[in-house]
Amino acid sequence: MKIPVAVLGATGAVGQRFVQLLDGHPWFDLVALAASDRSVGRRYADACAWKLDTPMPEAARDLEVRPAEPGLPGVLAFSALDAAVAGPIEEAFAAAGYGVLSNARNHRLDGDVPLLVPEVNPDHTALIPVQRRKRGWRSGFIATNPNCSTATLVLALAPLERAFGLKAAVVTTLQAVSGAGYPGVPSMDILGNVVPFIAGEEEKIQSETRKILGTFSSDGVTPHPMGVSATATRVPVPDGHTVSAFVTLGRDASLAEVREALCAFRAEPQRQRLPSAPEHPVVVVDADDRPQPRLDLKLERGMASVVGRIRRCELMGYKFVVLGHNTIRGAAGASILNAELLHSQGMLPEATS
Ligand code: NAP
Repeated sequence: MKIPVAVLGATGAVGQRFVQLLDGHPWFDLVALAASDRSVGRRYADACAWKLDTPMPEAARDLEVRPAEPGLPGVLAFSALDAAVAGPIEEAFAAAGYGVLSNARNHRLDGDVPLLVPEVNPDHTALIPVQRRKRGWRSGFIATNPNCSTATLVLALAPLERAFGLKAAVVTTLQAVSGAGYPGVPSMDILGNVVPFIAGEEEKIQSETRKILGTFSSDGVTPHPMGVSATATRVPVPDGHTVSAFVTLGRDASLAEVREALCAFRAEPQRQRLPSAPEHPVVVVDADDRPQPRLDLKLERGMASVVGRIRRCELMGYKFVVLGHNTIRGAAGASILNAELLHSQGMLPEATS
């Protein structure tokens, strides 16, 4: 029997991606959709301004949008809630026994909440028993995935950390408009333009990267000691965040070794063949003018980080460009992969009926 799941914030940019990716999922069955008062009581097909390039799944069209409150059918709640409201709603669901897989920033840096990238830190799920003990939750929990730029970046950093160690990364993002949700950035602000500021984003990239690459011990995660410095910009691209990265490795390595470490990267989700896992979590493209959002975003069904332009840097050691799908690997796809990892580890709440 499939595991019944709900999507909170189902009408937004990330919520729609959840609905798309959960359609036909081998383990999870989408049974409930929730959103704000604006949408509650309406058919999903009427409440949602569907913006994806595949038709709205038939099974979702007639579901009635419900309030984002415990009592929804399902044992998992995939949260694509606006961060302005996500914090207490997610806590209420976890306290009521749901496994909450969140995209929102609210709990990512809580000391007892795992910030997961299954290829990088699958052992951080050990924070869940700590969280339950600390918060008095019996079967529920909150597990989070990183912000969309961090998700793209950290998949490319992890193989370098594993092979050579990492001392520092200086990154500049070129982030798609869908990263700001729907309707998001006004067209008058972004068409023919680059906006050199995204509130809170640089701090998220810096702190989330170090937590994900950090070390779990019995009482928490010690962040990785590397330095991370970020500049975040918004560009007129519909989907796909590009990151220009300069890195200093822990030891010297040849260009061939760096390329090989990225190409050869495989981890727990690949070994376990989790349904949403990409075969190659990092795809290396060699043409001088790649990766490009328009051409490379759909590689590995949007679940890989696509790395190109790997070259020596006179100042920092190495530099490269990495591209990731912000609403798939950077959001809904990441949450679903987290749930698959937790299922493989036997950590999901049981369905009672
Ligand atoms: P969005 O398009 O603005 O969607 C927000 C969703 O939250 C909508 O479904 C909205 O429902 C719902 N909502 C708002 N207030 C609510 C309330 N009081 N109660 C219940 N539901 C409420 O935003 P998004 O881009 O999908 O982002 C969703 C979350 O994921 C955010 O926390 C964001 O930071 C994070 N995230 C986004 C991306 C990305 O690439 N877009 C990537 C990673 C993480 P209504 O339609 O009914 O108002």
